[in-house]
Amino acid sequence: MIINRTNVVVCEHADEVADHVAQKFVDLIHSKPDAVLGLATGGTPVGVYQRLVTRHRDGQVSFAKVTTFNLDEYVGLPVDHSQSYRSFMQKMLLDDVGIPQSRSFIPAGNAIDLEAAANDHEMKIQSMGGIDLQLLGIGQNGHIAFNEPGSAKQSRTRVVSLTRSTIEANSRFFDRLEDVPTQAITMGIGTILESKSIVIMAVGESKSAAVKNAIHGSITPDCPASFLQAHPSVTWYIDSAAACQLELPGRT
Ligand code: PGA
Repeated sequence: MIINRTNVVVCEHADEVADHVAQKFVDLIHSKPDAVLGLATGGTPVGVYQRLVTRHRDGQVSFAKVTTFNLDEYVGLPVDHSQSYRSFMQKMLLDDVGIPQSRSFIPAGNAIDLEAAANDHEMKIQSMGGIDLQLLGIGQNGHIAFNEPGSAKQSRTRVVSLTRSTIEANSRFFDRLEDVPTQAITMGIGTILESKSIVIMAVGESKSAAVKNAIHGSITPDCPASFLQAHPSVTWYIDSAAACQLELPGRT
C-alpha cells in the first residue's frame, strides 16, 4: 500500500480498496451514530456495501440512526425498475442494514416536476446539516456522479443529459444500449464539494487516465473530478491498475 501527501491510497487489489472504504464508514458511524452518509451507485462501490452488510450482520456497526443521500438517479425509470438507483440501493445495502426509505434519500428521477425534485434533494441535504462522508466513483471521462465534462464547479443538484461515453459504459447493466436513460438528476459539483469529507474509489486500468487527470491535471470542467483538488478532505482509494499512470513518490 502506498500513501502520498495528496491522500492517494494505492492498494494492490480491488478487495483492499473496498476494505479501506468500508472501514471509513464504520469508523464514522462509531464516532457519530447519526452521521449523514453520501452514497454512490455503479460497479465500484458494490464491495463496500457487501462489507457493510457483513459488519452489520456481525453486530459490529448499527445503521439505526444514520441518514443517507444518493448522488443521482436516472430520469424516467420506474422506481422499482431493476436498474433504478433506488432498486440498487435497496438491494445492495438499505434493506439488509435496515435503513428505512424515510431516512434514505435518492433524487426522484420519475417525478413530473424534475426541477422541483432536484431542488428538494438539495434542500433535504441542507436541512440535515450537510453530508459527513460522501462516497464517489469516477467515470472514464472524469465525471463524478453524473456531472459530465463541462459541468461547473458551482453546479447544484439538477437535471443533466448523459454523454455517449457514460451511456455506453452503463449499458452493461441494461439489455440494450437504447434502454439506458439519457438523462439523470445529479447532485452538483458545488453540492458534492460541501460534503465535510469525501472518499473516491477507482478500480481498473480503464479509469487510469481519468484518475491521472483528476489528481495531477489542472482544475478544469473538462475533468469534473479535478475539482476535488480544491477540497480540504478528500482521500482516493484506488487499485494498482487505476494508479498505473500516476507519478507517486516512494513507489517501488
Ligand atoms: P462504475 O461507475 O463504478 O460503474 O465504474 C463509476 C462512475 O461512473 O462514477
